[in-house]
Amino acid sequence: MRYAIIGDIHSNLEAFEAVIADIKTRGGFDEIWCLGDVVGYGPEPHACIEILQQYRHICVAGNHDWAAIGKIDTSDFNHDAAIANRWTARQLTNTDVSYLQKLPVKLTQGEFTLVHGSPLHPIWEYLLSVEGARDSFMYFDTKFCLVGHSHVPLIFQENKNGTCLMIKVPESLRLGVENHRFIINPGSVGQPRDGDPRASYMLYNSDDQIMYHYRVNYDINITQRKMIKYKLPSPLVSRLNYGC
Ligand code: ZN
Repeated sequence: MRYAIIGDIHSNLEAFEAVIADIKTRGGFDEIWCLGDVVGYGPEPHACIEILQQYRHICVAGNHDWAAIGKIDTSDFNHDAAIANRWTARQLTNTDVSYLQKLPVKLTQGEFTLVHGSPLHPIWEYLLSVEGARDSFMYFDTKFCLVGHSHVPLIFQENKNGTCLMIKVPESLRLGVENHRFIINPGSVGQPRDGDPRASYMLYNSDDQIMYHYRVNYDINITQRKMIKYKLPSPLVSRLNYGC
């Protein structure tokens, strides 16, 4: 089975479609594993939910997904994110709302736990440091945990002696031969923040147990023009150029 590991689509239809097209050129996928924040920031929340539902998939809830349906308030969001979130809420159909309502905060699939933020705080915690990741390994039972939220492709490795280190994300990682546990972030489809504006995703092949990381160009201008048309905050428009 081939799994498309994606997260933080953030209503960016062009980036999402580019990722789907890229996977298809690489032999396709059987199922999408989505790590939350399907909506928020970008200009196409409804279309992104609709496309995701066209495929066999599982998905966990992100903070933007919950905020868009009023499940959490936006007081912890920065000003621009809150404006975009209120706009997002107005674009959702009743079907979209009920889809987002039903998203679980945590899922387990074989050797993988899926959450948006961290296994301890699935909605809110950012895993960006070795210190935060080290404690997180205590809060899931599977060998691997897939996370999103930071929009940065990252891999944390737990060593047998309880220490933890951040390893550079390789083009491919042989999970089957690894004795270590890992926390893996595939990066963001729709709003990368690691200085690379290309959409980021991973593809997991369970036959040979290899996790692949890919970056994909998409037409950022089209997304930006829509954001300007809908009067979404300009810093959110310009950051897509820089992947920050
Ligand atoms: Zn996000």
